[in-house]
Amino acid sequence: MSKENSKAEELKKELFYEPKHAAEIISAAEVKKADKFCEDYKAFLNASKTEREAVKYIVAKAQKLGYVPFDRDKKYKAGDKVYYNNRGKSVILAIIGKKPLKDGVRLSAAHIDSPRLDLKQNPLYEDTDMALFKTHYYGGIKKYQWTAIPLSLHGVLIRRDGSKVEVNIGEKEGEPQFVVTDLLPHLGQEQMKRTLADGVRGEELNILIGSRPFNDDKASEKVKLNIMKLLNEKYGIVESDFLSAELEIVPAFKANDIGFDRSFVGSYGQDDRVCAYTAAEAIFALKNPTYTAIAILTDKEEIGSDGNTGLNSSYFKYFVADLAWQQGINYHTVLTNTQCLSADVNAAFDPTFPDVSERKNASYCNKGVVITKYTGRAGKAGTSDASAEYMGKIRNMLDANKVVWQTGELGKVDAGGGGTVAMYLAALDIDVIDLGVPVLSMHAPFEITAKLDVYMAYRAFKVFMEEK
Ligand code: MN
Ligand code: MN
Repeated sequence: MSKENSKAEELKKELFYEPKHAAEIISAAEVKKADKFCEDYKAFLNASKTEREAVKYIVAKAQKLGYVPFDRDKKYKAGDKVYYNNRGKSVILAIIGKKPLKDGVRLSAAHIDSPRLDLKQNPLYEDTDMALFKTHYYGGIKKYQWTAIPLSLHGVLIRRDGSKVEVNIGEKEGEPQFVVTDLLPHLGQEQMKRTLADGVRGEELNILIGSRPFNDDKASEKVKLNIMKLLNEKYGIVESDFLSAELEIVPAFKANDIGFDRSFVGSYGQDDRVCAYTAAEAIFALKNPTYTAIAILTDKEEIGSDGNTGLNSSYFKYFVADLAWQQGINYHTVLTNTQCLSADVNAAFDPTFPDVSERKNASYCNKGVVITKYTGRAGKAGTSDASAEYMGKIRNMLDANKVVWQTGELGKVDAGGGGTVAMYLAALDIDVIDLGVPVLSMHAPFEITAKLDVYMAYRAFKVFMEEK
């Protein structure tokens, strides 16, 4: 290399922005830590396939660590740890800081709902000696991806007498599973002419659940009757109990390492349980924070955050209002001074589909946690575009703590778009920016993240909440 060249290389290093593979930046020991972290992460994914199961898992862990249910009438002191369980589908974790609440909160907000197939209100029917469930998909899915894969059933039913029964079947070794059937290619010629979006239609996402008749030749719908009898024996339910139920069909496969080098995690539901897990683990690792630290793990993001367990409801605002009231201050003072990481995934650059990304502004697997200044669609519609000042604060904080990070937009301009909960927090006058993990095959039944990015997300949430 000539002297002139090395000078240019040096100057480039000084002046250019070139995000690198995290493994080129961090130590081998830290790579090992990341791999170990993801072992527990996979266990969480396997135990938390729905928002309700994620809340249960998180609350159980919080209780072990000394978190107690939030009491509106109590006055909390620094170091106190509380959780607020919103209807079993969202949860807020909080540690009271040393600084007064009026100085604001260090907040993270992730979601624990994922795209899936919900059972319809009246789902059970029989056709040609087979029993099936009708479904209504939840969130943005490519419907064809949900056929011909093993599925499990999770959720709750409220029986006629008001009692509740929980369902979780198809996950454990030896349990039956379920499936949406698809046409064989030999007879799929007409179907293959449909567009990909239309390849499998909403009303074709029917779940196969049985085929043996109840043993009495006098009745009609004997297969359905036999299924109902089995369900009655196992869960004590009758058909009308489906009307007061939330039953979710999700992929039955388990989280696993992907790649010869085991560098990726493959699993259902990583959007956004990857950020939920890392944000929860970050607050669990906190000791006596300066600022009050709060992690929100919310429901309903995938369908627009509406509903009283989603962040477009007031449950978080009320929680802060109660905390503020205990300290004799206005809740809006707290919110105005609060800083938030909206913890959600971004689309990782996929070399097989490069056309939807713009390389200079895409996020990449293994280049660390991704900061997304704005999401939205078209001309930045439907987003909270974080300020330069707040972006500046966050990047400096990550650099100072050697957290590997990158920036990323959700695809090319006008290629599509999407949103996160950031806008609902911004609506409360909170400083907020999106930070999370790049994901391949987002919203597919099996999503891919890189272990180093997962670990960097955990580290980012932790240093953010540890601010002095
Ligand atoms: Mn998400
Ligand atoms: Mn999503």
